[in-house]
Amino acid sequence: MICCTCAFCLGINKKNVRFVIRNGMPDSIEQLTQEAGHAGRDGEDCVYSLYFGFNDRKFHLKNASSEDETKNLQLNRLQLVTSFCYNKNTCRQVLLAQHFSEEGKPCNKCDNCERIGEVETEIDMTTHAKLALLTTVELTDTNYNKVTLQDIADALIKKKDNPSTKLSKTNWTSFLQGMIVNNLMREEIRSEQKKGAKKFFVCNNDNEATKSIMSGSTTYFFKI
Ligand SMILES: [Zn+2]
Repeated sequence: MICCTCAFCLGINKKNVRFVIRNGMPDSIEQLTQEAGHAGRDGEDCVYSLYFGFNDRKFHLKNASSEDETKNLQLNRLQLVTSFCYNKNTCRQVLLAQHFSEEGKPCNKCDNCERIGEVETEIDMTTHAKLALLTTVELTDTNYNKVTLQDIADALIKKKDNPSTKLSKTNWTSFLQGMIVNNLMREEIRSEQKKGAKKFFVCNNDNEATKSIMSGSTTYFFKI
């Protein structure tokens, strides 16, 4: 067994690696593919396991370029790998093939293939999504766009207007993270002052998905 940073992988071509275990979300699907590709080069069965959490993204967000064009590319790659990690429905091989504009067939071996047939318990949470989007607008308008995910969760648990939207703060936090994963909101990192500590702020994405949820033409399903 070898424990190493991802940089160790470069230039290593050992064919009979059976397991690659990754701790933390990679910065892109390309990085994930490159790491996974170190297992099973002899054509025999192998396993790539990825352990990740939502907050792993912060490492990559902090290290994003200060140059806008490069930063946008990096954030787009991070969003794609985040969606890949949280996807529970589509075969991993198919997702990877699609990412590289190829056609893939279900592998019948990955976690998502093994999940086929399980009862999906996502429920209609459109009312929650609307409330979260509206609350974020309210907060960003009054706080000069300096609103953290925890600020939004704090405001949401105080809302009393709709009992059906009541969630605990922990559940609202998971729900808001899900909205970021599903591209309805986004995280931005900014320095509070010159050379000050960097903070993560959240705002709504102004896209078709958010518009259709707000207009009621799309139902938002989610499982906390
Ligand atoms: Zn599969």
